[in-house]
Amino acid sequence: MIPNWLLQRSTLTPDRIALLFQDEQWTFKEANEKALVLAKKLTASGVRQHTRIAIYASSNPQIIWMMYACMHLQCEMVLLNLRLTGKELAYQIDDAAVDFILVEDLLMEKLPITKVSILSFSEINASPEQAIIVATEWAENQTMTIMYTSGTTGFPKGVRQTVGNHVSSATSSVYNMGLVDTDCWLCTMPLFHISGFSMLAKSLLHGVKINLYPKFDVVKIVDELVAGTVTRMSVVAVTLERILTELEVRNAKASPKFLTMLTGGGPVPVDYLKRAAKLDLNVAQTYGMTETSSQTATLSGADALRKIGSVGKALFFNQIRIDEAKKPFEQGEILIRGPHVTPGYIGRFTDKPSQENGWLHSGDIGYLDDEGYLYVVDRRSDLIISGGENIYPAEIENILTSHEAVREVGVCGVEDKKWGQVPNAFVVLSEDVESNELLAFCRKHLAAYKVPHQIHIVGQLPRNGSNKLLRRKLCELLIKE
Ligand code: ATP
Repeated sequence: MIPNWLLQRSTLTPDRIALLFQDEQWTFKEANEKALVLAKKLTASGVRQHTRIAIYASSNPQIIWMMYACMHLQCEMVLLNLRLTGKELAYQIDDAAVDFILVEDLLMEKLPITKVSILSFSEINASPEQAIIVATEWAENQTMTIMYTSGTTGFPKGVRQTVGNHVSSATSSVYNMGLVDTDCWLCTMPLFHISGFSMLAKSLLHGVKINLYPKFDVVKIVDELVAGTVTRMSVVAVTLERILTELEVRNAKASPKFLTMLTGGGPVPVDYLKRAAKLDLNVAQTYGMTETSSQTATLSGADALRKIGSVGKALFFNQIRIDEAKKPFEQGEILIRGPHVTPGYIGRFTDKPSQENGWLHSGDIGYLDDEGYLYVVDRRSDLIISGGENIYPAEIENILTSHEAVREVGVCGVEDKKWGQVPNAFVVLSEDVESNELLAFCRKHLAAYKVPHQIHIVGQLPRNGSNKLLRRKLCELLIKE
């Protein structure tokens, strides 16, 4: 059994700051009190303990108090993504068979018509309170959150993340990164994704502060990094690039008080890592996914340059192997095992096993080097097969981002009569350049069959709520063109 995170944390460090949001802040004791009051109001509004509810809200303190109230009620929280269309929301609400949807008032009109009972935050706040018995301990296998995959290869799957999954993930993360008294996570990641939610878990389990931003604001973020008012942050490649550019433009460096920039969620161009090193910014490349409740492997700062491009070694409780690889450097599907791996899916995928003999099939291709460091090559489903040759988009993206006029790149396969598929690149520029020059640059650095058949200069790339590149949506840009 695991102690109720909120009760335990508010007993251990009641007066430490739990959350900062704009000009306001709350201690762990205050956070717990808010959660208890809301749990009683939710109960009076009809929400029962141990039931499944959906939450639909933007990043602000209200959603955190609602989540904490649901934790006290041991409800399974289906965290709905703010970027979903009405049809996608309807699918998830139906698939998850939730009893209630808790929704921020401003988002009410975005919800699709559904038979499920809806409770707006203002209705909940206005409700009377009903007494509850709060569990002091939680079972490790109790489902705490459910997050849907983006459904690249079919219908989105609702992934169960248990109390034990989150505890294991937060614990192995702190074994790897360490903990200091002044720790403060700057959170710009959506709380409905594991990248954001895992910070709440870390905050409660490690007793550290979160500085919550409603959205990614590069100027304010760099102000915090330079002033040293935050110590850790989690970013994806594109948000890292914006931070690097802002630091470079200001000719500034992050304060030595800033300790870790966890960077993952997708391939990180080596050029960005080199720029970060020049700025003494401690970027820790990390590999994780919804099914593993955040990080599986992370590269430590000490290895950042020696093993540039690697996502490091498996964290303490986790194991990684490469399917069918007999020796180092052999590529294959990355298999993952450990207490952070989901026990399975819900809804229409309830019967789909998430593991084979305890190993999760990641769907990613990678290899381990002779010292056991993991390199993620790319997603298996994004592989482009052109005239029988395998091409991984990440390799082309890596080359193009090293061109000084290129800010961001996405590569995908486009149907072709002669070759089956050919790579096309979509680039966002930082300064003017002809696509012919970029093609010549690719010819210099890539085998002929990997050179994009076309390079499209675009204003922005399709991204999800965490700013992760959505390669499958790149082809839609072609249709729009
Ligand atoms: P889907 O629904 O298709 O599974 P998703 O992007 O929503 O996609 P997530 O759990 O958010 O799924 O992301 C996990 C995936 O992100 C990994 O399987 C991997 O492909 C990619 N990824 C994460 N970290 C890295 C990294 N450091 N380098 C390369 N790829 C990474």
